[in-house]
Amino acid sequence: MSGWQPLEEIVPEEIFRAEVAAWARRMGVWPREVRLRPMKRKWASCSSRGVLTFNTELLRQPAAFRAEVIVHELLHLKVPNHGKVFRALLRAYLAPGRGED
Ligand SMILES: [Zn+2]
Repeated sequence: MSGWQPLEEIVPEEIFRAEVAAWARRMGVWPREVRLRPMKRKWASCSSRGVLTFNTELLRQPAAFRAEVIVHELLHLKVPNHGKVFRALLRAYLAPGRGED
């Protein structure tokens, strides 16, 4: 790791939505709807109907963090809780070499 790093990275909403779509494809899930809005206490939520809502503040977070939040919520379309299976799959999807690049 070397070279210039921006202090703050802000991605456009279309890019964020493309990231969500790319992860959804990779994970074999398809959210009914993806919403973006400011949220007070959390980064994202997943409704039982399969609607994912992401905090617009995520657009200001680093790519690795966005990926964590995106994969976490998409995984809830497969596994509704935070149990052993959920944690194992989350680790597997976010493992180095399995990510965006
Ligand atoms: Zn969760």
